[in-house]
Amino acid sequence: MQIPDRNSLLRELKNHLFFLKDAGYSEIPCESDLFTESVSPLNSSPVKSMTDNKKANSLIEVREELGDCTRCKLSQGRKNIVFGSGNPKADLVFVGEGPGADEDEQGLPFVGRAGKKLTEIIEKGMLLDREKDTYICNIVKCRPPGNRDPEKEEIAACNPFLIQQLKAIQPRVVVALGKPAASTLLGRNVPITKERGTWHDYEGFKLMLTLHPAYLLRAYTIENRKAVQSDMKKVLKELGR
Ligand code: SF4
Repeated sequence: MQIPDRNSLLRELKNHLFFLKDAGYSEIPCESDLFTESVSPLNSSPVKSMTDNKKANSLIEVREELGDCTRCKLSQGRKNIVFGSGNPKADLVFVGEGPGADEDEQGLPFVGRAGKKLTEIIEKGMLLDREKDTYICNIVKCRPPGNRDPEKEEIAACNPFLIQQLKAIQPRVVVALGKPAASTLLGRNVPITKERGTWHDYEGFKLMLTLHPAYLLRAYTIENRKAVQSDMKKVLKELGR
């Protein structure tokens, strides 16, 4: 068997790290057998070792299945698929509607102004670590042009991947951010200001509805801030934190 040269190995490693980033990893899970089994490049590989972790591997498989997706027309205008980011084993998953311009540019969810607000809610309000304690994704993985709402066919094409993501992560709580996400997940028109703060079921997961951080930025009232605070308190209580 031919032993791969150093440059090929480094190239493979780089590709694999990019792949993990696309699958939502923000760090390499050192507790896995990744390093102990990778002593020889001939009989083991990082991909093989990662498969030992059922949940994490499932998320990788979901990303693999999504591939360079062209299942709906949103693929035509995107720069990057925004799969998700955070801890693939998180107890808490936030779900938005779809990526915006900043997210499309960077290939990461919630990185613009609304993303910063979400980070503030998670880190200052809930005293959690965004990358370690949560996973963040969207219903559609490609940016709708002009930030319009995703259409029915686009949601129908992409939503199975969200369900697969949740099944891979197995969070204890899912939070729908804003009316479009809440309405899509519950399959009906949700008056978010009335129904925020209430628990629902989504595919067997406990689902909390709250205001979208972008809405909070637009209507930065004490009432709205208190509403989100109160919703997140309920989430923390459910998580036992
Ligand atoms: S939005 Fe989803 S289904 Fe549509 S092209 Fe992007 S990844 Fe595929």
